[in-house]
Amino acid sequence: MWVEVAGIAEQLEAIQMRLSQDKNLTLLRRFQLFFFITVFLMTMGRGAFAENTLLRVEYFPSVVKQGDVCFIKASGLTSLKSIYGEFRGEKFPMAFGARNGTYEGLLGIDRNTPPAIYEIKIVAIDGSQSVYSSALLLKVEKVNFGTQNLSLPPSMVDLDPKTLERVNKEARRLTELFQGFRDERLWSGAFIRPVPGELTAAFGLGRIINGQHRSPHTGVDIRAEEGTPVLACNNGVVVLVDQLFFPGKSVILDHGWGIYSMYFHLSEALGGEGDRISTGAVLGRVGSTGRSTGFHLHWGVRMNGAQVNPLSLLGLTEH
Ligand SMILES: [Zn+2]
Repeated sequence: MWVEVAGIAEQLEAIQMRLSQDKNLTLLRRFQLFFFITVFLMTMGRGAFAENTLLRVEYFPSVVKQGDVCFIKASGLTSLKSIYGEFRGEKFPMAFGARNGTYEGLLGIDRNTPPAIYEIKIVAIDGSQSVYSSALLLKVEKVNFGTQNLSLPPSMVDLDPKTLERVNKEARRLTELFQGFRDERLWSGAFIRPVPGELTAAFGLGRIINGQHRSPHTGVDIRAEEGTPVLACNNGVVVLVDQLFFPGKSVILDHGWGIYSMYFHLSEALGGEGDRISTGAVLGRVGSTGRSTGFHLHWGVRMNGAQVNPLSLLGLTEH
């Protein structure tokens, strides 16, 4: 049995409204989007709204930008055997939410995801093997991340072969780590900010270091006094405690379901790999180790490989 989500007609209407208001779209792009919506209605519309109240899907925030995290909530069906979502051909997990009869999941939109309208599919299977599917449209908006000019000691930028080898090895280690997937969902409830303080470098900033274009900023920098306690943004397992070349003293947490948070430039890391820690537990102290120009915390989040803005996690799961 295939069932479509309620409200898809309203979503299409809202997108079409926005298209008609958006003066920056070229005629070709307008045509492409119109074509997409028409094909979508033709292919998805057949019998789609007949039993549209069974599996209801909502997402927050309502406007999604590159690098955002989306909270997906499904309700209307109980006693499901399994439920998952699909975005751009990749599956993402969902599970029982806090309230009875709701299922929830987090979807990370990588900062490099091309701005477009995407379909998110939610597939649920109940005890008698009936398959329910809901589709919803998600418009990902473009972000102008901006650029930042930095001056750093040449030894931190133009690396000698030995250091370069070390840096590449560390990068490979992190990439491998972020490809891991823990079935167990450790995160629950609201994500919190690891330290209070002013944001000194935003997520996604393009970087020109000593006049040369370098990789964009993969997290947020929060200014804080040396020694300020750094708190776990949610429940997790410590999967890395080490001194790395660029990130300095680092701690990485695995929150389950492919979600990792990282804390860089620490003066001190508390605890060790394998430790399970709860939301708000102290995992280290603010420092300025590695490639850093002052005391601050670099806080980054990866979600199934996607680079996402950690700030977009805050307050998200309270809906
Ligand atoms: Zn940073």
